[in-house]
Amino acid sequence: MKLGIVGLPNVGKSTLFNSLTKAGAESANYPFCTIDPNVGIVAVPDERLKLLGDFYQSKKVTPAVIEFVDIAGLVKGASKGEGLGNQFLANIREVDAIVHVVRCFEDENVIHVDGCIDPLRDIETINLELIFSDLEILERRIAKTTKTARMDKEAAKELEFLKQVKAHLEDGKPASSMELDGEEQELYMKEYNLLTWKPVIYAANVSEDDLADDAASNEYVAKVREYAKETGSEVFALCAEIEQEISELEEDEKKEFLEDLGIQQSGLEKLIVASYRLLGLLSFLTAGEDETRAWTIKVGTKAPQAAGKIHTDFERGFIKAEVVNYQDLLDCGSYAGAREKGLVRMEGKEYVVQDGDVILFRFNV
Ligand code: GDP
Repeated sequence: MKLGIVGLPNVGKSTLFNSLTKAGAESANYPFCTIDPNVGIVAVPDERLKLLGDFYQSKKVTPAVIEFVDIAGLVKGASKGEGLGNQFLANIREVDAIVHVVRCFEDENVIHVDGCIDPLRDIETINLELIFSDLEILERRIAKTTKTARMDKEAAKELEFLKQVKAHLEDGKPASSMELDGEEQELYMKEYNLLTWKPVIYAANVSEDDLADDAASNEYVAKVREYAKETGSEVFALCAEIEQEISELEEDEKKEFLEDLGIQQSGLEKLIVASYRLLGLLSFLTAGEDETRAWTIKVGTKAPQAAGKIHTDFERGFIKAEVVNYQDLLDCGSYAGAREKGLVRMEGKEYVVQDGDVILFRFNV
């Protein structure tokens, strides 16, 4: 899973990104930690992993990961190629979801590019750039499809759809807010890969004082929440500066620090939970002496495809999956114990993998 961080300059993107990558570096038994300075690999916090790793006394515990891409440089005029804008827009096209950081903190020492704090204006500025970029794609596609539409019924149908999407965007609305009519239109949208069709999580960057009551009294955040509700997006409040401090702490210090702030979860954790929910993801686990590991899949994934996440051979040669819920396994004290109680199930090709399943795949090579 890949998330792109966007936002106007000076809203706290780099501060957030640095705290994410730092947190990632801490949990670094991951082989590809620094690919690129703008890409950070972050472990998905998962208490089950540690417990399961202890249970098996695994040599290695490997979390599921999320990749974050810092897409700085998205400014007004980006879609016209200003400030290397087009390159940044191309980077966004590759992500699964967008984390849009909006400034909701007051600080005289930090200049706002447009003079004052106004999160809705900021959101609109960025979203307009995304819309412009999408319109370019649509126009190219329309030109191409117009040629074939005279001879080809399918193409004619698509052309009509393309024009509908274009009109929707020209109204200043993101493609994601368009009601689609049937599976065919869903497939078209998938193919176009429009920026404004991607799920968005708004990260409202607030001051430290706003954290305790989840920014309930911050009027800027209230506006962002209202906007997100209308557009079907998620919002959460965080303080990028505090995230940076948290990322420098040890695990046990972290708990205490969060308690002092009156919060249970760091912004990073909230962000990961929100993206899992938004993208419809879950984690299943594999466990053993050598390695205990979490794997990310989409809700609804069947056993062979889940096996394919580990290795393509596992999917091709899939025979069955031995499945036990992680809590059941821990409660029983041993795998054999769970088996005796009938809690280890044999599942076949049609089994839909559940969050927290501990799975042993049987396959032919
Ligand atoms: P970017 O341009 O969006 O990447 O913004 P930066 O992360 O570089 O932040 C711009 C400035 O705002 C820096 O001086 C940060 O220290 C400051 N800043 C970032 N987050 C916060 C915050 O939560 N509160 C306050 N008061 N300042 C912040």
